[in-house]
Amino acid sequence: MPKYILVCGGVISGIGKGVIASSTGLLLKTTGLKVTSIKIDPYMNIDAGTMAPTEHGEVYVLNDGGEVDLDLGNYERYLDVTLSKEHNLTTGKVYQRVIEKERRGDYLGKTVQIIPHLTNEVQDWIERVSKLPVDETDEEPDVCIIELGGTVGDIESAPFIEAMRQFQFRVGHENFAVLHVSLIPVVGGEQKTKPTQATVRDLRGLGLFPDLIACRCEKELERSTMDKVSMFCHVSPAQVMGVHNVQSTYHVPLLLQDQGLVTYLQTRLNLSSIDVGDRGRARGQSLMTRWKQLTSGHDRLFETVSIVLVGKYTSMQDSYMSVVKALEHASMRVGRKLTIQWVESSHLEPEAQHEDPVKYHDAWKALCSAGGILVPGGFGVRGTEGMIVAVKWAREHKVPFLGICLGMQVAVIEWARNVCGMADANSSELDPNTTHPAVIFMPEISKTHLGGTMRLGLRPTIFQPSTENAKIRRLYGGEETVWERHRHRYEVNPELVERFEQGDGKSTGGLKFIGRDESGQRMQILEMDDHPYFVALQAHPEFCSRPLNPSPPFLGFLAAAAGQSILAEHLQRNEKEYRPPHPESSKTLRSPVEAADPDVEAKIAADVARANGRE
Ligand code: GLN
Repeated sequence: MPKYILVCGGVISGIGKGVIASSTGLLLKTTGLKVTSIKIDPYMNIDAGTMAPTEHGEVYVLNDGGEVDLDLGNYERYLDVTLSKEHNLTTGKVYQRVIEKERRGDYLGKTVQIIPHLTNEVQDWIERVSKLPVDETDEEPDVCIIELGGTVGDIESAPFIEAMRQFQFRVGHENFAVLHVSLIPVVGGEQKTKPTQATVRDLRGLGLFPDLIACRCEKELERSTMDKVSMFCHVSPAQVMGVHNVQSTYHVPLLLQDQGLVTYLQTRLNLSSIDVGDRGRARGQSLMTRWKQLTSGHDRLFETVSIVLVGKYTSMQDSYMSVVKALEHASMRVGRKLTIQWVESSHLEPEAQHEDPVKYHDAWKALCSAGGILVPGGFGVRGTEGMIVAVKWAREHKVPFLGICLGMQVAVIEWARNVCGMADANSSELDPNTTHPAVIFMPEISKTHLGGTMRLGLRPTIFQPSTENAKIRRLYGGEETVWERHRHRYEVNPELVERFEQGDGKSTGGLKFIGRDESGQRMQILEMDDHPYFVALQAHPEFCSRPLNPSPPFLGFLAAAAGQSILAEHLQRNEKEYRPPHPESSKTLRSPVEAADPDVEAKIAADVARANGRE
């Protein structure tokens, strides 16, 4: 049975519980243990797929097509694991399971109640999912981090807290520990412990006793504050961890390590009883060494590389969480300090000039000074014209460009309009009446994702013949097939591909669809061959980037933004050394079903309506 560490939070949410939880997992991994994680989100949605990015941040996509909370991204990145949609438990999912069972008659006529039926379901779920292999060893994990979203005391999280209270007895004291993350505000220059005292009291009242209290604070936690927390929260000083603001979140594991987090957990959970073997120990040590190099290298970056991110959800930067992380990973590999300028794409549009000239000018100023221009994913028409002009700028002024999903679609629209002479070219998502549908609705109706019309999850892209010298292929290690995660419905119109590749018919270079799906019908990677770096992908490579294994398209982009010689260096290095992060078992082809579902039209309409709601 795995050891369980419940990470919950108090006072307010959004203070870095996810980072503390994944840092704890990472530290345990450096001792050779195999670590997995489960995120509990106490909202009623079944998953994050229907949530607006501007409200809830990015929808994170998994290999199996799960659309989940962005915290799962933290775990995949820090722990270098591959999670499934089952690793994200929501109120919606547990209720759905219990109601299904009730309808089937599984409860044999009993009155179905939150305690014990729902709370049992939560515990069964956690027990089952915590045993799923998630890393390259393909073995059962030794430790499972359970992160409970929200704060203790919320009505929403009450059934989960109760389930965890029962769970500590189900698995036994030496297999279950609680890490409570709290906030220490500063008032009048003094670090205040009252809110922490109150939240710990709440937690105890609900039957859970903190083994560790991680105190988030702006500056280092003072000795006297630590003593006070220890005294009033009835824990020893060794159980109080200070987590102040540090230069980057990559420092948090080392901060916790210095305060004895691992030593404490080793005793508390009797971790020495788990035999990690020589290979496990060596794996852990190598991870620690590489992580230390990464963080110390990060502190010594002085030269900067400036990227402009032209998106439509920039008011909520968490909407682009994984994109930012992928840029960070790449910048650390390239050895440059990353600066991101956020440009709301609609501010680049001609109308903005009259409506808000200051924003218009600021946006253009940022764009013109960019070392690299990135257009990420998105849904709906708002802001897309601004993205198109940004692509035009990148193409004509030879500024390194990376387009992701919608970013690839607008790049094709720009090319169609300004090079191929199709003045009204558009995507049928953005203008259903266009006479030149450069991008069209190509849903994927799959056996495994019933009712869904999105192309979701890990899919292969096959590089076309004679593309060995393409930059993006070399960055992917020269492989013929590469796997990335998808989340979209629209794609480049296969009927226009030949015309697009001919460009204006005069010049030899231009835009080439060098990577396609296994049927050859879906255009998945494009590259401009007479440009320093102009790459776009229909997939979302940001979801598979790791701090120690940056995503190839991002690495090439960042390197090109830092200079041509740096790009050349990384092309050479990756061509030899790049190893994809996916376990072999996740590379399975999912075959689409031909017109199987009579309700498919209605489902498509519902999906599209929801997508528009995301605008
Ligand atoms: N809206 C586009 C589509 O559905 C792009 C999606 C995205 O960027 N994730 O195809």
